Amino acid sequence: MAEIQLNHVYKKFDDGVTAVKNFTLDIQDRDFVVFVGPSGCGKSTTLRMIAGLEKISDGTLVIDGKKMNDVQSCDRDIAMVFQNYALYPHMTVAENMAYSLRLKHVPKKERRQKVEEVAKILGLEEVLDRKPAELSGGQKQRVAMGRAIVRQPKAFLMDEPLSNLDAKLRTQMRREIQKLYRELNSTFIYVTHDQTEAMTLGTKIVVMKAGEIQQIASPEMLYNEPANVFVAGFIGMPPMNFFRGRCQMRYEKVYVSTAGMQIELPPDMADRVKKKSELGKDVIIGVRPEDMLIADEGVESKVRVYEMLGSETYLYFDHDGGTVAVRTAADTPIRKGDRVHFNFRKDKIHLFDAQ
Ligand code: ADP
Repeated sequence: MAEIQLNHVYKKFDDGVTAVKNFTLDIQDRDFVVFVGPSGCGKSTTLRMIAGLEKISDGTLVIDGKKMNDVQSCDRDIAMVFQNYALYPHMTVAENMAYSLRLKHVPKKERRQKVEEVAKILGLEEVLDRKPAELSGGQKQRVAMGRAIVRQPKAFLMDEPLSNLDAKLRTQMRREIQKLYRELNSTFIYVTHDQTEAMTLGTKIVVMKAGEIQQIASPEMLYNEPANVFVAGFIGMPPMNFFRGRCQMRYEKVYVSTAGMQIELPPDMADRVKKKSELGKDVIIGVRPEDMLIADEGVESKVRVYEMLGSETYLYFDHDGGTVAVRTAADTPIRKGDRVHFNFRKDKIHLFDAQ
């Protein structure tokens, strides 16, 4: 159980790289927080600062009400699971899992009991006497987690724990991590560049770009109300489509003109546009592929790519120097090379500032 606060945290490396900027986050007890973003955006560095493996350059880290900036990693009572497992090769699975208890001088019998208990949760009973070299990738990852669980830490920190596993095993381990989270009733902080992992595991997702937080939200909120074009384009596959447009007012109503169409904005969006004085200014309109339509009118274009996935079909078009993806029915008669009109559900558009 842990509550963790980061207040205006910065990390500047000696070579002048500022890897993390003004990072402020409130982690509640039993949150499953996921840091997600492209490679190099500062996810691992932030996690390592929480773990005490990297010094904080500026700002404060508070765990359960206590400032932790200068507290040694081993005294923070949090466990970290790494991508490369970091198991001791000369020790058996049981010895690896019991290692932290041995350091704490926990009696042998109690150690064995605890290890067996955790091995049962993770399905490792059969391999307790094996060495890491005799294990599969999935088993190694389970041992790494087992080693963390045995310690009963305040929080679990995981840095891309599944990225060395093949796709099928990754899906399976993802479910196991979900189950573990429910069973352990603890705080989890998890780093990944994979949006599926982020969306399926996180209760609170932190999207990062170039060292800065872009949005902190639940998976639903992130998908339905992305804060900016970056988040909108990062979460969702295929990504959201973007169109350039301009907001105008006519007879008290606000319209956005885009892709040769005039769309009346719903009242809440119209109010926002008026409040932000965006009338007459360029904006970006975002529409998810599932909110696009093939219709009798709209933008006429040729299908460049036809992708049938079994349960649905994606059609891709070239438009305004980019690509537009449209999700449609699996049994659509439309094929590559056909000329059709695409349009979008006017009530499902997102509006962003033009950058
Ligand atoms: P992510 O986990 O999102 O891939 P990192 O936190 O590993 O990103 O890295 C963020 C930035 O900090 C990158 O530009 C990376 O090159 C830089 N960086 C990471 N570790 C160090 C280091 N020890 N010294 C200098 N720069 C570093």
